[in-house]
Amino acid sequence: MAEDDRIVASSAGVEITGTALQPFLSPDFDFLAAVEAAGPFNATHCFQCRKCTNGCPVSFAMDIFPDRIIRLALLGQKDEVLRSRTIWICASCETCSTRCPNGVRIAELMDFFKELALETGITPALSSVAAFYQTFLENLKLTGRVFETGLLPAYWLRSRQVASLFKSGEMRRSLDQAVKLFRKGRLSALPHWVREKGEIKSILRPSRSPGGDKQ
Ligand code: SF4
Ligand code: SF4
Repeated sequence: MAEDDRIVASSAGVEITGTALQPFLSPDFDFLAAVEAAGPFNATHCFQCRKCTNGCPVSFAMDIFPDRIIRLALLGQKDEVLRSRTIWICASCETCSTRCPNGVRIAELMDFFKELALETGITPALSSVAAFYQTFLENLKLTGRVFETGLLPAYWLRSRQVASLFKSGEMRRSLDQAVKLFRKGRLSALPHWVREKGEIKSILRPSRSPGGDKQ
């Protein structure tokens, strides 16, 4: 009998084989190892108590709850995880990591999954959130401090919203606000450069790419 044809479940005379399950469950057995090599995030310590999900302030908007994301990662369901809305909805508030009794670094995992989804070329479930995420990090890495004057135009360009924002008048309203803030000295024309940008980068990315070095 081929390995995939083994009976993996049997109930009321109905037998389910590995082959029958394949369309529904195609685990990537390297996924968890790659995830933990990038952390470690302690995902294997999870015993599914759901304390993370019960404390998450934005779980109502997620398609897969945080404890389910961990479970799917443990089951090698890479696609399910990386294509979820959840990883982009996550606000990185750290509530889940604080509540977890087993030290699973869930908030960091969510950030890692975002990076992995982008690296892998998976279309983000929430493209505008992903565009803002990328723009914000690039802005921060460039100077070591967020340059707010450049952040919004860069985000508009990346998210391809320029035409629609111009048409709706939203761009004009934002620019009017920016002028007011500029006059009050709350926005600057030039970025402030931080000397130790390397340290900022290491804070931004405590994990490492699969197979890569610690940054
Ligand atoms: S709180 Fe920790 S142990 Fe409990 S389900 Fe979430 S990740 Fe798993
Ligand atoms: S870090 Fe993300 S998943 Fe965790 S509680 Fe906050 S929003 Fe929810």
